[in-house]
Amino acid sequence: MWKDNKRCAVGLSFDFDAESLWMGNYRYDYPAVLARGEYGARAGLPRILKILGRHDVKATFFVPGYTAEKYPHLIQQIHEQGHELGHHGYLHENPGKCLPDEEREIIQKGIDCLKDITGYAPVGYRIPSGVHSPQTLELLLEFGFQYESSMVADDTPYMLDVGDGGAKMLEIPFSWELDDAPHFLFRQKPYQTGMSSQSKVYEIWAAEFEVCYQEGGYYGLTCHPQVIGRRHRAQMYDKLLAFIKSFPDVWIATHIDIARHILDSQ
Ligand SMILES: [Zn+2]
Repeated sequence: MWKDNKRCAVGLSFDFDAESLWMGNYRYDYPAVLARGEYGARAGLPRILKILGRHDVKATFFVPGYTAEKYPHLIQQIHEQGHELGHHGYLHENPGKCLPDEEREIIQKGIDCLKDITGYAPVGYRIPSGVHSPQTLELLLEFGFQYESSMVADDTPYMLDVGDGGAKMLEIPFSWELDDAPHFLFRQKPYQTGMSSQSKVYEIWAAEFEVCYQEGGYYGLTCHPQVIGRRHRAQMYDKLLAFIKSFPDVWIATHIDIARHILDSQ
């Protein structure tokens, strides 16, 4: 099933939200909370890029247009290092609360912001805020997206029905268990404890990988530079990559490489 008959596939992704998570999602605007997002750009992302480089693996970064406009040098760096850039809204909006025209504008704006820097339009999409509108998938097809990565109905990639006309879109699934935010993200309102021990999360993430390897499945990890980029967590991420790479025949690839492989084999 996987490229070159590899035993399993691993997709490493990062939602590089920076300040947009707090501005768009939670509507905060005060400096101390925006600084949490800024940490992702100043400290988290550079640390993560170093780790990926050391392991010689490529990842997918879903980036809101606002973050791309604010940190073009970092987007350029991600691009130059061979990682994929995917769409993640403009200001981390909730598409479920957008009017159809508004959502269309946001998708176009997000594409333009990334294309201005990398020269290519993103073809992968992860929804900000986790809420699809009734027209999100149809809009994605209209804009030429090849996959989306926000749903949780299976462990391995699957096809989503889009509208009633038989159209389909590839889903590269996401999972809350393999996301750093529910484990580590601390929030005062609405309250979220976060601050889990990195050894506890390592135990969960490594066990998921072991079973994925036995099953020959897909392992999709979703992280946020402002969350996983903290020193002790980045150290755990580094250790996890070393663990995954200690297994033979593991295909670690960007989401678009995985998507193209699946779509080409159909
Ligand atoms: Zn996000």
